[in-house]
Amino acid sequence: ARLAGADPDRGALLVHGHLDVVPADAADWQVPPFSGEIRDGYLWGRGAIDMKDTVAVMLATARHFARTGTRPARDVVLAFLADEEAGGKFGAHWLVEHRPELFAGVTEAIGEGGGFSFAIDDTRRLYPIENAQRGMAWMELTATGRAGHGSSPNDENAVTDLAESLTRIGRETFPIRLIEPVRALLEEAARLYGVEFDEDDIEGTLERLGPVSDFMQVVLRNSANPTMFDAGYQTNVIPGKATARVDGRFLPGHEQELTDTIDRLLLPSVTREWVNHDIAMETTFDGPLVEAMCEAVRAEDPDGHPVPYCNPGGTDAKAFTHLGIRCFG
Ligand SMILES: [Zn+2]
Repeated sequence: ARLAGADPDRGALLVHGHLDVVPADAADWQVPPFSGEIRDGYLWGRGAIDMKDTVAVMLATARHFARTGTRPARDVVLAFLADEEAGGKFGAHWLVEHRPELFAGVTEAIGEGGGFSFAIDDTRRLYPIENAQRGMAWMELTATGRAGHGSSPNDENAVTDLAESLTRIGRETFPIRLIEPVRALLEEAARLYGVEFDEDDIEGTLERLGPVSDFMQVVLRNSANPTMFDAGYQTNVIPGKATARVDGRFLPGHEQELTDTIDRLLLPSVTREWVNHDIAMETTFDGPLVEAMCEAVRAEDPDGHPVPYCNPGGTDAKAFTHLGIRCFG
């Protein structure tokens, strides 16, 4: 839907959310996961906070506009999307590719990522506002060797080669790369805690920050985790091939470093192929929209401190970045 703004010459604002949720096994739940049951003052259900709460806020705002005849300052495009949890191929990416006219004139977007708060102490809170995301590099590794009988010596065993490559990847510690949003977040957190921020000793800075630094650890560097392994069909048969999957993530500007590291760790008999590959993104933490979001936080919480935030994963924002839209959470 597009709500017409007072000034059609201003770039439009995209407000987007996803309607799909990850699966839920009812046996693991205290309430039926799709019942939307209200218990002890909370609404329970899969997707309640990811992200039907936000979608409800967006809808309530649009309804408020309609009921009060409020005209937004600029065009507002509302998009409620499918398939986000599986990468958005049939949701945001599909729309960007096949229906880009729906986003004509959009210059900025607000979607998922940030908005929750972290308590600094009893009175002050940090409010991350996402302006960056790590990129996604999910890969399949294939080791090719010499098939043979399990009782014979074999120095071209595909299972051995793949296992060794995966072990190297899983044990690799990627170097710290301080991108601007993370640096700004660390700096502000250090200031509020009254601890020293030492750019040359990030580990020490995190230690001084204590538990609040937990969610910053994951955006300090690239990462790659082996997650799946598939090989063989019988104990006494050495297979000629083995495959595995690795979940790789890279910081904005550090994709090549991830690829180079993986290739250095792989044994020569192992090849790599992308199964899901999507960009990292980063925009500056400035401008009227950022100022308006920070002001909105402070209006509700005078001791709230908005800070930039890099999402360790990804959202539909990646798709909209392809249209030249500045995306925020
Ligand atoms: Zn989500």
